[in-house]
Amino acid sequence: MTPNRLFIDNQWINTNDTLASINPADESIIGEVACAGQAEVDAAVAAARRALNGVWRKTTPWERGRVLAKISALILQNINALADMEMRETGKPITAAHGAVHSAARYFEFYAGVADKIQGTSIPLGENYVDFTLREPLGVTAHILPWNVPLNMLARGVAPALAAGCTAVVKPAEQTPHGALQLAQIFIDAGLPPGVVNIINGRGETTGAMLSSHPGIDGITFTGSVATGAAVMRAAAEHIKPVVLELGGKSPIIAFADAKPEKVATEACKGIYSNTGQYCDAGSRLLLNDRIHDAVLELVVEKSRAINVGMPAENVDMGPLISDEQHRRVMDYIRRGKESAVLACGGGRPATLEKGYFVEPTVFDQVDVGTDISQHEIFGPVLSVSYFGDEDEALHIANSTDFGLAAGIFTQDISRALRLASKLDAGTVYVNEYFSGEIASPFGGVKKSGIGRERGLETLANYTRIKNVIINISS
Ligand code: NAD
Repeated sequence: MTPNRLFIDNQWINTNDTLASINPADESIIGEVACAGQAEVDAAVAAARRALNGVWRKTTPWERGRVLAKISALILQNINALADMEMRETGKPITAAHGAVHSAARYFEFYAGVADKIQGTSIPLGENYVDFTLREPLGVTAHILPWNVPLNMLARGVAPALAAGCTAVVKPAEQTPHGALQLAQIFIDAGLPPGVVNIINGRGETTGAMLSSHPGIDGITFTGSVATGAAVMRAAAEHIKPVVLELGGKSPIIAFADAKPEKVATEACKGIYSNTGQYCDAGSRLLLNDRIHDAVLELVVEKSRAINVGMPAENVDMGPLISDEQHRRVMDYIRRGKESAVLACGGGRPATLEKGYFVEPTVFDQVDVGTDISQHEIFGPVLSVSYFGDEDEALHIANSTDFGLAAGIFTQDISRALRLASKLDAGTVYVNEYFSGEIASPFGGVKKSGIGRERGLETLANYTRIKNVIINISS
């Protein structure tokens, strides 16, 4: 039985209010989960505060690390059940769902090793003083999650928060409420003490807003849309709380004339079709030097047409979009794209799939800067191709959106790659491969792509605060 209640203080709590999650591949109802109202949000925050000041504070850093390591091991032991739910709730192909769950386990594994290595510094003030810093836990942290890689996103915030000694209240996205509850059972089995992690499902405008405006939390980690990120930031400002925001992008992949067309086309297709284009750092704009434009475009179109779209359990290349709403949104962008650019392939619903929120791999060519499809995050399998003459023009087009999450560069000229990397508005620059890096690699955006860095050791800044202790030791 998949758990479907709220998880507060290691107890399963029922409420009268529920929401249903829908399988985007066949539009069937997966199940209903309990939603948190104000009383449950208050209870979750209070449980996290008690744990912060009680059991979790008394747990040594290395013991915290051991619990995280146990969680990682249990995620791997239960990978089939977790991946099955990830597949059903998000529509990911089953192998991709396994990969997503595996990376959730990696987060807990990585931060298990970090828990007892979070150190302060000593500051030289001369012989009369000893000055040192303590890196204390930030406190009770709120985690408001997106639906695109739900377990991964939960682990990305919660694992380092716990390693740093914080406690957590998690609100999963409406579309993907079950996976987090499966993890809750794993938290119990791993021996995580009551209140350290609390999971409260609910709608964004109610449960999410109650959590982000709660005076009892000490910081918020949010991943999702720009508009909601701004609302979360405003709520946090009321209580002067820090936020970490990861808000998506419109990431360019720039290919110069000396790049290998086959490699560029393969990586570009990976960049836009992985997770049906629903990755925040999807490479949704392909900028081609005019000398290789025709060769690369031909390959991209050929590969796009070869993508096998279908039922996730059949291990296809690409599953559906997350929801009816997202499907309508993406189809509307495709409609607008047809008015402003040249449709090179796709643009419709696969003829063989009657149900589910499927859309064909779609490529637009000759996309002008300033059009909607070149500027807005579509969050679907829609690639915009533009071309450029020289490096300056490539940079100008690449930096022409409000976003700045990731960028790709394909060239054999390492000097050019490094020159461009330093000038691109992006938190991550991939050179000659897209989506490289791992948990250890910091990730985050500039401009409207967000604030702060997650992953790696950088994220510890989000979950610790510095206390400076200065002692006069003169006799
Ligand atoms: P959203 O920003 O509305 O939702 C993200 C999370 O915020 C969910 O848990 C939601 O319940 C919660 N939320 C919603 N309103 C809230 C509020 N007022 N206060 C607090 N929490 C609130 O995202 P969405 O509507 O699911 O997706 C819309 C677009 O967001 C997508 O099309 C895409 O462009 C972008 N998106 C980006 C990412 C990413 O990884 N950066 C992930 C998902 C969606």
